[in-house]
Amino acid sequence: MSSIIQLLPDHVANQIAAGEVVQRPASVVKELVENAVDAGATEIKLIVKDAGKTLIQVIDNGKGMSVTDARLCFERHATSKIRQAEDLFSLHTKGFRGEALASIAAIAHVEMKTKQDQEELGTHIVIEGSKFVSQDVAVLPRGTSFSVKNLFFNIPARRNFLKSDTVEFRHIVDDFERVALAHPNIHFMLFHNGSEMFNLPQSNLRQRIVNVFGGKTNEKLVPVTESTEIMGIQGFVGKPEFAKKNRGEQFFFVNDRFIKSPYLHHAIMAAYEGLLKDGSQPSYFLYLDVPPHTIDINIHPTKTEIKFDDDQAMYAILRSSIKHSLGQFNVAPVLDFERDASLDIPYEYKEKESQTPLIQVDANFNPFADEKPSRAFSSSSGGSHSFGSSFNSGYKKQESNASWESLYVGLKTATEEIDVSEIQFESEEVTGSLFGENEVETAGNRTYQIQKKYIVSPIKSGMMILYQERAHQRILYEQFLTNITMHQAASQQLLFPLELHFSQSEMAMIKELRPSLENTGFVFDAMTTEILVISGLPVNVAESEVGLLLEELIHDLQGELPESSFSQSDRIAKSMSRSLSVKTGAYLTEKEQESIVNSLFACKDPNVSPFNKPTFITMGVEDLDKRFAL
Ligand code: ADP
Ligand code: MG
Repeated sequence: MSSIIQLLPDHVANQIAAGEVVQRPASVVKELVENAVDAGATEIKLIVKDAGKTLIQVIDNGKGMSVTDARLCFERHATSKIRQAEDLFSLHTKGFRGEALASIAAIAHVEMKTKQDQEELGTHIVIEGSKFVSQDVAVLPRGTSFSVKNLFFNIPARRNFLKSDTVEFRHIVDDFERVALAHPNIHFMLFHNGSEMFNLPQSNLRQRIVNVFGGKTNEKLVPVTESTEIMGIQGFVGKPEFAKKNRGEQFFFVNDRFIKSPYLHHAIMAAYEGLLKDGSQPSYFLYLDVPPHTIDINIHPTKTEIKFDDDQAMYAILRSSIKHSLGQFNVAPVLDFERDASLDIPYEYKEKESQTPLIQVDANFNPFADEKPSRAFSSSSGGSHSFGSSFNSGYKKQESNASWESLYVGLKTATEEIDVSEIQFESEEVTGSLFGENEVETAGNRTYQIQKKYIVSPIKSGMMILYQERAHQRILYEQFLTNITMHQAASQQLLFPLELHFSQSEMAMIKELRPSLENTGFVFDAMTTEILVISGLPVNVAESEVGLLLEELIHDLQGELPESSFSQSDRIAKSMSRSLSVKTGAYLTEKEQESIVNSLFACKDPNVSPFNKPTFITMGVEDLDKRFAL
């Protein structure tokens, strides 16, 4: 019988291996930047075009390579970092597998220029899909420059699988930040499509964190230091009051390598116990120093997971040292007996000038108009304006409306019933769907809130149960989408412009979104690399919510969800509707409940939330009869 097993040719083996090492442009960035760090560079410049799909270039001033090494580095399992298996237990470098360059060269067009300090001339190599195209001697500065073009040119399936530039660039920034945070003594720069996104000069750790995440970060940081036999801890944790809704700023480094550890994360959360609002996430930047022989970093191909010999002890040490630091920070002012704490101005107000209270006048208010809640919506099947002026703006300022309305309490009559049939008439989509012929006609005039989550309302055929949060999301979503596409949003002018601080990469994102955001009603006065000055807001956004709203928006748009195939406007509208909707757990007045019911059925697509979840269900009398027949 003939034998059928063959050894794969090198370029095929490399291409297969590349699948593991290079998932997306960010993987290339990570490998090249780490190589530059390993080469002892003090300055590393990263240049990216089209989120790395067109070009990724890394220029370092490290030790460079000899002619032979320059050729050898593209071979698989070619590394200068370990020689024998034991070396794995005393690693001080980022790389050690010797497969990154071979993998990258197998699936892209790579050009490398490198020169060692003591040499007169350097080497210039071009390699495409594992094939050496050229090798020359060249006059070069000290160090190495890699440029990687046309990533995945020979694996179209991979190329097509890449996400939008926004998402891919976010991944690059993530990896860039991780290396930059681990090495504050190296000057890092990042350029994207010709503009400078980061310029991080050599500095200490605290300055590096502040340079990456913006000037405001400084006041949020509480230092943590601990030194035990098992490990040393250096770094900072965020003050609890600055905790965020997402897990953006959480970093663990072990021996200067970024790692993920759900177990140690848990230790940190345990240290914050009782200090955080529900579901909010503290920032942390923690650098653990562990004897190399007590860890195994080899258990994950991309090396972000790690195995510790004694993770239980680490858990305990980490938790108690963070608790200690937070305690010191919290307790410090109380122990300061010299000062009368009651005289202290609350921190946030220290630098604020006093503000004249805003007087809000509703120009449209006509005391003689015979107002019914449903009226505001009756003309709203296509227009967003009536939403804005009635339901949405009323939402946040409900108290102020409520105060004059309370004068009329005694005059409330049964005429204030929800005229759903009128809505049904207005927005035809509703008729065909869940409600049969004229079914929506209300049997009564009341809505009830259940568990601060559902709104129940009787309808002719039985009853209807709305999911308050989802229903409100739908209402806001359609409103924002109309505003963005029709450019017709109203905006509330702020008396004192609002100054918000963002990191450089967040600001880049806001710049990209600016036109759409302005269509929702935002007015931006000025934008520097870190500060955003806002002088107008969409009518339904309260001043206190803006920071969180934009933060969540950036987070949503950078994430993989919602699907990148949707338009940017759609994703903005989705994100904002999720941020601003009334949440489960929010008490709603009867008027607010009615308002939600009415506005929902004036929507084009009231049946589902923007995230495709049902917004309401109905229960017919027959259903109820069945239940009682049991
Ligand atoms: P590894 O980093 O795991 O050793 P790589 O494929 O990333 O494997 O790199 C192979 C070798 O090429 C490295 O061990 C190093 O000797 C050399 N090398 C790669 N990049 C650089 C650089 N920027 N400067 C100097 N040498 C480099
Ligand atoms: Mg490497």
